[in-house]
Amino acid sequence: MIFAERKPVEELIEFAGRYKRVAVAGCATCVAECAVGGEEEVRALVALLGMALRRKGTPVTFVPVMLERQCEREFIEGAVETLEGVEAVISLACGIGAQALAERFDMKPVFPGVNTSALVIREDDGLWESRCAACGDCVLGETFGLCPIARCAKGLLNGPCGGTRENGKCEVNEEMDCIWTKIVERAEARGELDALTEVALPRDWSNSRHGGQKRVVREELQR
Ligand code: SF4
Ligand code: SF4
Repeated sequence: MIFAERKPVEELIEFAGRYKRVAVAGCATCVAECAVGGEEEVRALVALLGMALRRKGTPVTFVPVMLERQCEREFIEGAVETLEGVEAVISLACGIGAQALAERFDMKPVFPGVNTSALVIREDDGLWESRCAACGDCVLGETFGLCPIARCAKGLLNGPCGGTRENGKCEVNEEMDCIWTKIVERAEARGELDALTEVALPRDWSNSRHGGQKRVVREELQR
């Protein structure tokens, strides 16, 4: 899922304080899963911002609105009436959802209420870890199902780097496993260690997020 963290509340107060009526728009998918943009968080933020701005003597009316998926235009259409009735929007969806709203309401300020930071898996209650960096040229087939782009601090294609700690943790981040050690261990357990002796050549980054704006066409799905 897409992971996001809420922006500092001071930034949201500063933005909302410029208007009289502001919507706080949540999304019921990823950001609800990571507890920054679900129904509960929308309600809590509305209360928090309302109180903060009342105390400052510049009261603002906040309108909570939940979208099933903020990144899908048809769900945005379902909230148009509410969103047309406000001067500005704080979006608690990921950067995709916030942009979809900003596209639909291009004359209205849409402020991102969260910072979108990773593609993660939930490891435990309150604990998420990166699993993918959407690099556009997946190497999991060569790395025994463990991603070195998202999970090695140096993004190495040939590892380990030599700095792995004795306890198997990464030299850059002692809380994280050295993923290359895990890759080697898995290869060894499968009796396929030889596969890692081949040097991985520089990869093709042209299909990655670093390659600029992306447009994908799948004709078989077009109507
Ligand atoms: S190799 Fe690329 S596409 Fe595959 S999991 Fe890692 S970052 Fe994601
Ligand atoms: S210790 Fe392992 S995970 Fe950390 S940078 Fe080196 S190879 Fe990558």
